[in-house]
Formats: sequence, structure tokens, C-alpha cells
Amino acid sequence: MEKFAIVGFGCAGYHALSSIREAGNTAQIDVYSDTDMPPYNPMLTTYYTADRLPYDGMFPFGTISEIAKSMDADIITNTKVKKVHAADKSVQTEDGCIHSYDKILIATGASAFVPKNFSHLKGAFCMRTVADAKKLRDAISRREYKSAVIVGASMVGIKVAELLHKKGCQVILADMAPHIFALAAYPEVSEIIERRLTSMGIRLAFGQAISGAYEHTDRSGNITGCTVQLADGSQIETELLVLNIGTRAATGILSANEILIDRGIVVDRHMRTSSPDIYAAGDCCQGNNLQSGETQIIGLWANAGLQGRVAGRNMAGVSDETDGNILHNITHFLDMDFIGLGDNRLTGDVRVYQSPDKGFYLRTVLRDGKPAGFNILDNYGISGILKAHLIKILRGQPCRFSPEQRGRLIRCGLEESFIDKLEVRQ
Ligand SMILES: Cc1cc2nc3c(=O)[nH]c(=O)nc-3n(C[C@H](O)[C@H](O)[C@H](O)COP(=O)(O)OP(=O)(O)OC[C@H]3O[C@@H](n4cnc5c(N)ncnc54)[C@H](O)[C@@H]3O)c2cc1C
Repeated sequence: MEKFAIVGFGCAGYHALSSIREAGNTAQIDVYSDTDMPPYNPMLTTYYTADRLPYDGMFPFGTISEIAKSMDADIITNTKVKKVHAADKSVQTEDGCIHSYDKILIATGASAFVPKNFSHLKGAFCMRTVADAKKLRDAISRREYKSAVIVGASMVGIKVAELLHKKGCQVILADMAPHIFALAAYPEVSEIIERRLTSMGIRLAFGQAISGAYEHTDRSGNITGCTVQLADGSQIETELLVLNIGTRAATGILSANEILIDRGIVVDRHMRTSSPDIYAAGDCCQGNNLQSGETQIIGLWANAGLQGRVAGRNMAGVSDETDGNILHNITHFLDMDFIGLGDNRLTGDVRVYQSPDKGFYLRTVLRDGKPAGFNILDNYGISGILKAHLIKILRGQPCRFSPEQRGRLIRCGLEESFIDKLEVRQ
């Protein structure tokens, strides 16, 4: 009987496991997880911290025993993999045991990145894992923080800002980038969001590096607050510091002499790494960016699921491939929705649509008459159609909306004359 290993049990690992079984493959599958939890959705951690979701709500696929039974897999919890030896297809756990396999999937995700100048802080928080969510939740339930600095104006940073703002905390959102959502939003759209945040009382400190921070303690050694230092020499006093500076692909269990690693593990369309029978999927790996044609980490839930499914099917012996994905973000915060589709650095002819009665805003950049990216505020109902549209364009497919799509766009508030501008006429 064939033996497979899946290292890391998040979104990508789960979808790989279920695809292997859906393909009818009966291999023995060992799943290694460094936690005792079933796969969780990191996007839901801030909802749990904010008390808007019960603990169990973070686990969309059921319990470990339910998954193990339905998928006939051996899920080895609380077991950190120390090394994957790609050349001899073996997995070494931290206790020194080595197990050999026919095929191995690396699905170790990413971890929060804390730069050196913050690594000495004992009281700072991150937001990536369930443990991070629990830690922040416990802290804000024990103490009523009056002020918070959140470093990193990303999709994660804004969710943390939202939950603390709603708890009555004076929030400062800080980032080295000049604007919020620097990797997804056009500057003009960022400015609209920033105006809204400011009018709600959230302060913004953008455009300069946070060079360091030091903590204050009371006589018993409890951390009471922190001074955050900015590159221009100014300082911010805060009771709570949350660092969402970025993530790093978890690739440390591999050796760069055995497998091609750039920022993440480099994979092909089948999710194969450069080493035979070793696959990778999810935030640990670098797949094709459909728009740039280059390999890139696209750290998104749906992308991890897609890559996991493709890897699983190929491991099962059913040939499958993905030509990649585009950068896309959908996030809801503070009563607004932001959707970014495509590379926000691309410039071209700009078209803006503001719905007179449905109160949403759409900005698109056209290159050679074709949409190259979209930013939408407050209308997630059109995002799926526009994302599919952009992907069709990038695949060189005929680019017209179907009557159903056109109907939905109109129902969601877009005028026909604007829809026409988004179609490519041959
Ligand atoms: C707060 C937050 C908000 C987000 N918001 C969005 C959003 O709005 N939209 C969106 O699309 N995406 C969002 N994301 C990103 C999305 O959640 C990730 O892209 C996705 O979860 C990645 O799945 P994964 O399986 O690759 O990795 P992970 O979910 O990180 O799973 C990897 C697993 O492997 C385990 N592991 C790692 N190393 C080892 C080892 N050596 N041995 C054993 N086990 C190991 C880890 O503990 C983890 O359980 C958000 C992420 C966060 C943190």
C-alpha cells in the first residue's frame, strides 16, 4: 500500500486530504500537526477575540476524530515535524523518529513575522493563530485598555483595529506604507477608507517606520504599557501593542539544497516542488500569479484550498493543474466592505463608478481597453463576477458578461453604460 504524509493541517492540508480520498485513493495517510486542534480558519480568529464567534466556530471542517474517521487518516497531533528529507522522502519529527513515504505534501502555512527590534517585547500581541487570538481575548477581558497601537495596516490589522475600537479603545493604526491596504488598494480608494476611519475616531500614523518600542512595568513587574518609537524621532504612548507586520512562509523544515525555495517553496501547475514526489500547497508556497506570470505567495484562504485540492489529486494519481490565481482581497470591517482584485500597482486608464442610489464605489484600471484591476467599496455582491471577469481576460478568453451576470451587476447597482466599458469588444 502506498504511504503519504501531509505536514501541516490547515486549509491546504485539509483540502489535500479530502481530495485524495475523493479521488478514490486508499493510501495510508499520516497527517502531522503541531497543534491538538482541527484545521481552523485564521480569518475567523478576530471574530472569536471580539466575542462575535464561539470557539468552535473557528473550525469549519469538524473535530479531529470526525475528520480522521471520515477520511480514514492517521492525524498525528501535537507533533512538530523537524525536517523533511526530500531526497529520501522521509519525515523527521522533533523526537528524532524518521518515517519514509511515497509522497509528501508540505502544507505548513506561514507564521507571523516579528522584526528583531520588537522581539524583546514580552507584552506585545500578534494575530495569526488560535493561540494568538486566545491570548488577546484573555488580555482584553482582564483589562480595559484605553489605548492601542496596531502596527500593520493590512486586512488583519484593520480587523484588530475594529475589535479594539468597538471596545472603546483609542486606536492608532500605524504602517510604514503611506496608505492603508498598500498591497491591495489604489491610493485614491485608500484615502476614502482613511477619511472614514478618521471620522470614526481611529488615528492613523502612516508613511514612516516604527523603529522600536520599549515596555513599562509596575513594581510587581507587570507590563503596564509601551512607548512606540517612530523613525522621525516622535513617540507614541500606548497601553496595548499589536504587531501585524507581515508573515513568513514556514519553509524551515526543508533544505534549500534539496528543494527550490524563494520566498516560499516554488511549485509548478501541479503543485509539485523541484523534488520528485514532494508537493507543497498554501501559504508556504509560491504558485503562479496569473497577472504577472511570475511565481508568488498568494496568502489567501481560497487559494490555499485550491492548491491543496490540486496537490491532493495529483498525489492520488489523478492529473490536475491550476494556472494560478490573482491577488484578491475581500474584507468587511467597521460597516464597510473593501474588495481588491488584481495588482494595484498597475496603471492605465481609470474609470470610476459611484452608484447614485446604492451607495457604492468602484474603481477600475484599464490597460489596452481591458480591466486590469478593481477596487470596490461597499458592494461585495459584484465581486465574484468581476473577479471571474478579470481571470477570463488574463486567460485570453472572450470577455463578455453572460446575461445572468449582466443582470446581477445591474441589480447590484451598476449602470449598463458602465458595464459596457468593462467588456472587451473584439
Ligand atoms: C487574522 C487573519 C486574517 C485573514 N484574513 C483573510 C481574508 O480576509 N481573506 C483571505 O482569503 N485570507 C485571509 N487570511 C489568510 C488565510 O487565512 C490563509 O491564507 C490560509 O489560512 C492559509 O492556509 P494554509 O493551510 O496554507 O496555512 P495555515 O492555516 O497556516 O496552516 C498551516 C498549519 O501547519 C502547521 N504547521 C506548521 N509547521 C508545522 C510543522 N513543522 N509540523 C507540523 N505542523 C506544522 C501550523 O500549525 C498550521 O496549523 C487571513 C489570515 C489571518 C491570520
